[in-house]
Amino acid sequence: MDSLSDVSFLNSLFERFYPIGSCENGGVTRLGYGPEENKMHNMLKDISKGLGFKVETDSAGNSFVGIGDAKYEKYHIIGSHLDSVPSGGRYDGVCGVLSGLLVLNWIKKYNLKIPVKVVAFRCEESSAFGRATIGSSLSTGSIKDSELAKLKNVNGESLLDVFEKYGYSPEPYIMQNVIDYIELHIEQGRVLWEKGMDIGIVTSIAAPRRYRLNILGRQDHSGATPMYMRKDALCAAAEVISLVEELGKKESVHSTVATVGIIKEKPNVMNVVPGFVELGIDIRGIDKDSINRVLDGLKKDTDNIMKRRGIDYEFQKISSSDPVTLDRSVIESLKRAAKKLNIDFVEMPSGAGHDAMEMANITKAGMIFIPCKEGISHNIHEKADLDKVIEGSKIILEYLKEESL
Ligand SMILES: [Zn+2]
Repeated sequence: MDSLSDVSFLNSLFERFYPIGSCENGGVTRLGYGPEENKMHNMLKDISKGLGFKVETDSAGNSFVGIGDAKYEKYHIIGSHLDSVPSGGRYDGVCGVLSGLLVLNWIKKYNLKIPVKVVAFRCEESSAFGRATIGSSLSTGSIKDSELAKLKNVNGESLLDVFEKYGYSPEPYIMQNVIDYIELHIEQGRVLWEKGMDIGIVTSIAAPRRYRLNILGRQDHSGATPMYMRKDALCAAAEVISLVEELGKKESVHSTVATVGIIKEKPNVMNVVPGFVELGIDIRGIDKDSINRVLDGLKKDTDNIMKRRGIDYEFQKISSSDPVTLDRSVIESLKRAAKKLNIDFVEMPSGAGHDAMEMANITKAGMIFIPCKEGISHNIHEKADLDKVIEGSKIILEYLKEESL
């Protein structure tokens, strides 16, 4: 394979996608089921047609690219997504779709008889409708109509209205005749970058559990209220924030992480003792018992903190999903493919969620990670190396060849 022409192939496709939703400061904004994501899918159609491929769109708006009119009894699916977070990077998701096109192009070029479709799933990021992986959840039947009906985007538009506008159906369905699903993605953390490794073969995908803690203190005058009389909601919140960090650190040997990502204080005024704080808490991991230990510790010690301070609180679950273990036979085959190609790799869990976790509900699923510069992602400075996309794609092709023997 001529890797120089592979780089220019990928580069030319990247350049065509890049202007869509690009921000002045260098990043991109392509929210799921929004105008920019539509343009990304239209561009994928244009590019695919130009390469002599055929594109189909399913009832959820997901795009599938195949070679010609070939009707496969069963087929492999490779790909990722084309949406982004606000002011996100140009590599997240796009790398996986382009890797798919590169593999499909090789299959066509070398006339290999491998049944493959490249997918671009819709709305993988939760930033558009507050719910991640909507396209892949619809096509794997893992989302309920009742959940869809509640979803609204940042403009207050409901998902159902958006679907009606575009002619999509909110009816979940289950993709048929799928042999397996392989997704290449940037790591979005800095494990590969710091190890100086090119490839990660993903073993499992961490699932987030999200909670809201409302701390109901007492709003008072900051000058006239002696310290011993106070019910300062922000001071209580500070203890909880430290507690979350401590619990996460304690369970970090199991790859569990815990974060307070949201803090809202009322009235947020210089001369007022804070009366109310809302915290948003995100706990993730690949080991359910470890996640439960963090959660149990959080509940117990939060209760202790609030009792000691005489402050009321409300602890609410926002969402909860379980970690996904990727298919062992796929992991072993991907490792064999990498070894055959003399490409070094590490096995690793994924801290971030991906479409692969939805696909794992209906078929064997595997993932390949490539490094992103300094581990920066969901950020305008996100950067990945196209050579690594090619390396990862070679592993996928080798895997597919072996599976098709
Ligand atoms: Zn992504």
